[in-house]
Amino acid sequence: MTATLADIPVSELKGVGAALEKKLHNLGIQNLQDLLFHLPLRYQDRTRIIPIGSLRPGDESVIEGEVKVADISKGRRRSLLCRIQDGTGTMTLRFFHFSAAQKNNLKPGIRIRCFGETRTGPSGLEIVHPEYKRVDSDDLVPVEEHLTPVYPTTEGLHQGRLRALTEQALAYLKRGALQELVPEALRENWQFPGLVDAVAYLHRPPVDADQHLLLEGLHPAQRRLAFEELLAHHLSLLKLRQKTRKKGAPELSGSGELKQQFLDQLPFPLTGAQQRVSEEVSQDLALAFPMLRLVQGDVGSGKTVVAALAAIQSVESGLQAAVMAPTEILAEQHFINFTNWLEPLGVKVAWLAGKLKGKQRQAQLEAIRSGEARVVVGTHALFQEEVVFSDLGLVVIDEQHRFGVHQRLSLREKGRNGELAPHQLIMTATPIPRTLTMSAYADLDCSIIDELPPGRTPVNTVVIADSRREEVMQRVRSACAEKRQVYWVCTLIEESEALQCQAAEVTAEELKQALPELRVGLVHGRMKPAEKAEIMQQFKSAELDLLVATTVIEVGVDVPNASVMIIENPERLGLAQLHQLRGRVGRGSVESFCVLMYHAPLSNQGRERLTVMRETTDGFRIAEKDLELRGPGEVLGTRQTGVMQFKMADLQRDSDLLTRVKTVAGQMEQWPDHAESLVQRWLGRGEDYGNV
Ligand code: ADP
Ligand code: MG
Repeated sequence: MTATLADIPVSELKGVGAALEKKLHNLGIQNLQDLLFHLPLRYQDRTRIIPIGSLRPGDESVIEGEVKVADISKGRRRSLLCRIQDGTGTMTLRFFHFSAAQKNNLKPGIRIRCFGETRTGPSGLEIVHPEYKRVDSDDLVPVEEHLTPVYPTTEGLHQGRLRALTEQALAYLKRGALQELVPEALRENWQFPGLVDAVAYLHRPPVDADQHLLLEGLHPAQRRLAFEELLAHHLSLLKLRQKTRKKGAPELSGSGELKQQFLDQLPFPLTGAQQRVSEEVSQDLALAFPMLRLVQGDVGSGKTVVAALAAIQSVESGLQAAVMAPTEILAEQHFINFTNWLEPLGVKVAWLAGKLKGKQRQAQLEAIRSGEARVVVGTHALFQEEVVFSDLGLVVIDEQHRFGVHQRLSLREKGRNGELAPHQLIMTATPIPRTLTMSAYADLDCSIIDELPPGRTPVNTVVIADSRREEVMQRVRSACAEKRQVYWVCTLIEESEALQCQAAEVTAEELKQALPELRVGLVHGRMKPAEKAEIMQQFKSAELDLLVATTVIEVGVDVPNASVMIIENPERLGLAQLHQLRGRVGRGSVESFCVLMYHAPLSNQGRERLTVMRETTDGFRIAEKDLELRGPGEVLGTRQTGVMQFKMADLQRDSDLLTRVKTVAGQMEQWPDHAESLVQRWLGRGEDYGNV
């Protein structure tokens, strides 16, 4: 049997010494399989000689002609200019770097063949620094037989080198050393070429290949590999899921008694969607293996209540529940809610965040360890080593897209209780586009709260340039005269909290001056929690008319009487964040407004984002648009990008494959070895999620 390509290190190839091997390793290429799955970014057409007369600026092409003259021009920049001519026209070759020998070799009368990108120069069409070689009219140097691949590369590794190496690897391929890992039975009536054909095709597409399709990534050979890659990712997540599922979990059946008391004291009935999702969660919790469920719901759809119900079921079953939020403010808000809801029922709620120090911290840690605290709310601090749970049954993560697969895993591990793993409920702050749910979150079951509590009125959104700031301030004045309350949100580059706070301070001062009759408050991330809470309380009880804030109010603020929000420089924020912010108004029954006050000029993308915000308040649509505009890496947050870096697939372009990927991945359970090898092929050894 032939060794498979994955077993042959690149050092086996001719011409690969230690230095080259290192460069290849930098590209993630260790063996011949890696090399063959290092696919071209694009192609050049060197298969035809193009008449000079038909060249257009931007064309990359081969031309051939007779040198008419080669001269050094002493213009703004010294350069060697060479005019060449074929039967159809003349053009210039321009060299900024050249040797005397080069100039002498370009003698009038000789023929040369060149390759390069045509552009418009000072005296007609030209190519800067073309590749060229001399051809003699009687010996016919052949043009390339295939389209020429252009590979992703690294410093000091030339395309020619990569081509030569892939050429050698392709020879192995012909000898059948690449295994088809999608079982034959699962390949029935699909429209893709076989794996070997697809790989060979993409490295050396034939002359008549549809370049347009190839460039768009829509060629069947590319789709074949994109499918396989998506499948490999999906399988890696399923593997992870299976691994977790093999562990036992405490059966949290609950008596229903506390739950009923909680619902009775709640000032509103659950929406239909809240009931349905809570029921799904409740059933999962009663099973003897860990729940892995994602709850999605738009801003304000009432996810916190669903989380509370899950926590109560754990408490009823005699086990602790932990609730983790990504920011201190959000965690604080949850802590307040949970305390208000649960302490009257006799359930002790503990609080833990990074800022909590000294005796208070020790007291909370002790309550968690002894099991006196039944529910624990906090930030990442919950998962530090010093935190020991007495009997954890459930972990709720309010995640805001901020935790990646690896984080999710380590949390799961952290909560281990002997042989048993805790159940896990993940809530997203904003909806996740479907394609991402089907890929990045494929290890989770998904529930959707697709209904808002009754009595909400959609927010009217207007987009205005900040040159009309004066007008906007008058609007704020008249809104406050009508006893409405207003948020004024200052944004700056997100990374600089200090600058952001400073901007908010300046703005608050300016507004106080301009609108002296209004009571103006200020909150920002650098204030002490107690100060922040105090200001928020004043705003809530209508002792303030106008609250100037940084984006900290994105989460955790709930003031139903606030019905106007001004957002400065909204073009700096992502759609999801704008949607979150805007979700702070429109919580009461009066009509609400959101003013997006941008700073001109807007980029096209900025304009498009603001238009989306004006046109819809549907979080699911906004999420889809966000993905379209910013791509999966950005939407998921940087920590998650590692998971979503595809070589071949593009989630957007190939989203139509995902349903099939899911089906095939499920069926591949019967071929565990193939599944394993597929994951290895595409994700490599380092990305083995199952072994975190
Ligand atoms: P999110 O899904 O954004 O986390 P929250 O859980 O913060 O939403 O809920 C938003 C607001 O809606 C809160 O003030 C909450 O008390 C209220 N709420 C939740 N469920 C209902 C309901 N069924 N009826 C009325 N108000 C509700
Ligand atoms: Mg929430």
